[in-house]
Amino acid sequence: MSQLLSVSYRRGIHVAEAGLWLDPQFSAECAFVSHAHSDHFARHRLTICSELTHQIMTARYGKRAAGAFLSIPFGEPLIREGWTLRLLPAGHIAGSSMLHLRREADGASLLYTGDYKLRSSSSCELARFEQADTLVMETTFGVPQYRFPPRDKVIGQIHNFLRVAFESGETPVFYAYSLGKAQELLCTLADTGYCFMLHRSVWEMTRTLAPHLSALPAYECFDSSRTEGKVLVFPPASRKSQTLRKLKKTRTAMLSGWALSPSAKYRYDVDEVIPLSDHADYSELLETVTLVNPKRVFLVHGYTQEFAIDLRARGYDARALGRHDQMELDLGLSRSGMPTA
Ligand SMILES: [Zn+2]
Repeated sequence: MSQLLSVSYRRGIHVAEAGLWLDPQFSAECAFVSHAHSDHFARHRLTICSELTHQIMTARYGKRAAGAFLSIPFGEPLIREGWTLRLLPAGHIAGSSMLHLRREADGASLLYTGDYKLRSSSSCELARFEQADTLVMETTFGVPQYRFPPRDKVIGQIHNFLRVAFESGETPVFYAYSLGKAQELLCTLADTGYCFMLHRSVWEMTRTLAPHLSALPAYECFDSSRTEGKVLVFPPASRKSQTLRKLKKTRTAMLSGWALSPSAKYRYDVDEVIPLSDHADYSELLETVTLVNPKRVFLVHGYTQEFAIDLRARGYDARALGRHDQMELDLGLSRSGMPTA
């Protein structure tokens, strides 16, 4: 019987025997980077990631993304110093991937999810899982309160928000993270006839990703003199910006899984919160453990302690790995202080 892989946490997730860090936020010798969100980005001597994540990092971070890259297509094995590495789609944002790691000597295996979700989306591939005896998974929404409504219901809320805004003569403004959530919104509304005006950061990311997206609606870069009849998409960090304050009569909506938190609307100071998330909800987290069927589970991000207790009650060997950001996430803030999820 193979011995389980050893995983440790020292400012980041470390699989020492494979010489590999998983999404470290500091410069490492060799790191797997699951996707191009800024809280997963650092410059490494060697970065292993998907081809699309490499492209996005180059477009987004320029020279800061320099260093050697090893980009592997989804599903293709990479044999490296006694290990087989394979990337699997994570369903979080375009290019996002999980890492499946196998020790050739005895077949011991590990699956690292990075940020992920199981639900289908309009802007990235569906997640694909494989069995592993060690599972390292994110638990951003790891308590039962966070069970997202069906996708159709969330899309219905988005349509309703737009209808009310236009009927009241208000300019609708969605707050959505410029990489991932914004494109998911655009692709979801591709055939509706709405015209979009995007904050420059959203516009730039959308242009970078356009060749990889199925269909996009009409969109242009923000111009304060021509907002009438347009749907605005801005990153959450711009909520208090002068640019938006100068616009007369806006109606605002935050797109976030934290919408299910009772006071989210007031905390975000918006007219509406809509639970469009690119993370797994509580039910999907449980489903993941069933799908991967591990002997041992390590939990990172969000409600790690709570979900570990939950899994142990279900008979799994589960424990929180590090304990870095629980309360921040409860406020809808990522480790970098940016609104997330
Ligand atoms: Zn992410």
